[in-house]
Amino acid sequence: MKRSACLAVALFALFSLAGCGSLPLPKERETAPVPSPTQYHITAELDAAEHTLSVLTDIDWSCPADDLSAVKFYLYPNAYKEGHEVVTKDKVEAAYPGGSPSYGGSEILSALCDVPVTDTSLGEDDMVLTLRLSRDLKKGERVRFRITQKVTLACIKHRLGYAEGYYYLSGFYPVVCPFSEGVFLTYPYTPFGDPFRLETAEFSLDLSLPIGTACAASAEIVRRETQGSTEIYSIASNSSREVAVVASKKMFVEKRSYGDKSLFYYYESGSNKERILSVIEDALRYYEECFGAYPYSTYTVVSAPFFESGVEHAGLTVISKDLSFAYKKKTILHETAHQWWFGKVGNDEFASPWIDEGLAEYSAAAYYKAAGQEAVYRELVREAEDAYAVRLSVKGSEGVRFDLPLPELADGYYDRVYAGGLLLFSTLAERFGTKRFHAALRDFAERYAGKVATQGALISSLSQSLEEDLSAFFQGWLTGVVPLQ
Ligand SMILES: [Zn+2]
Repeated sequence: MKRSACLAVALFALFSLAGCGSLPLPKERETAPVPSPTQYHITAELDAAEHTLSVLTDIDWSCPADDLSAVKFYLYPNAYKEGHEVVTKDKVEAAYPGGSPSYGGSEILSALCDVPVTDTSLGEDDMVLTLRLSRDLKKGERVRFRITQKVTLACIKHRLGYAEGYYYLSGFYPVVCPFSEGVFLTYPYTPFGDPFRLETAEFSLDLSLPIGTACAASAEIVRRETQGSTEIYSIASNSSREVAVVASKKMFVEKRSYGDKSLFYYYESGSNKERILSVIEDALRYYEECFGAYPYSTYTVVSAPFFESGVEHAGLTVISKDLSFAYKKKTILHETAHQWWFGKVGNDEFASPWIDEGLAEYSAAAYYKAAGQEAVYRELVREAEDAYAVRLSVKGSEGVRFDLPLPELADGYYDRVYAGGLLLFSTLAERFGTKRFHAALRDFAERYAGKVATQGALISSLSQSLEEDLSAFFQGWLTGVVPLQ
């Protein structure tokens, strides 16, 4: 996600580090081994009058360990229930059209499995559905679930909700919780950052919308069929981290081919559509040159009412329609970089949010530099230095460290994760040279494509590619003990 505020002003200096031998890559897998990805087949129907979604999800899942008798699923719509917070207090007015909170949630109508279900329960603030089964599962055993829900949408310009004639439909279906080191990860939903660890899966979605509704989708629309007063969009991806849609009767679309891929820009009004499509294409081309192939067959950007400047989904970016062209460009550069740093290379955005945000900030800054706008690059780095240095002087090292999970970054989230991350990566680029550093990032993207890369994996991968043990360098930045000059 991209913040809306600019950074503050002050002074900062950087340092370099003596090298030693390269580090071996971690031998262990970063995620639990599965013989084939989880498959989600989702059928959903939007009731635009009631602002509800009827959702049926078939999940075909491979058990990651022996002797599991319970399986856990995230129910992200329940983050919007009364008593929960999906945005920080300073964003309430921007997020809720009425200026005060509106609520939603998920009602589970049935939860079935081909192994009999003996009990269902909600936990973790209603965010996690647990299905207990009549017997232990074996590692690698394929199990099918069918879960039906009625999702009530909150009136909010957010990941999931509706506002001003737009429907934001992500995370509306049950998601199997990632399984790591013998347990299902059940992260709480935070009102800032992206509290997710999304694993690669296969998705198909049949979405019924009122006729005449445009559908901006995170993957290819393989079929579109009219049935009476509804249109059914069939969306499919055999390798993604999610399926998401923005739907509205207000949107127009402009399409452009990019090699064998299709780019879409959905917009409500304005004369900048060709310029925006060129920004999208230029961003993809630059990032592909630097970091390797774009991972999906389509890429869609939607300009819509939104509470922040933008948000990334796999294959889909939402930007606020109220931004100036220059700010839309900056937001598209950041969110498009997430297609590599979040989409292609997954990471645990709850445990280590600085990785994808730092890399997205750095990649966008590097784009300007490569496009001959060195001054913009310098300004972005200087703003980050200022924000970081001000915070360091006020809060000390503990106040700038960013190797922390989301809930521990509530104070100074952007100055630590975004500014700190940008400075860390721009320092590496200046130290090793842009070309060599980008080649190392490309190695990282290739090594962890489709996987979830931990902090240790990133450090090891860059150390190997740059032929230097960067552990101490990262440790200094992550814990806020970078020596100032
Ligand atoms: Zn971001």
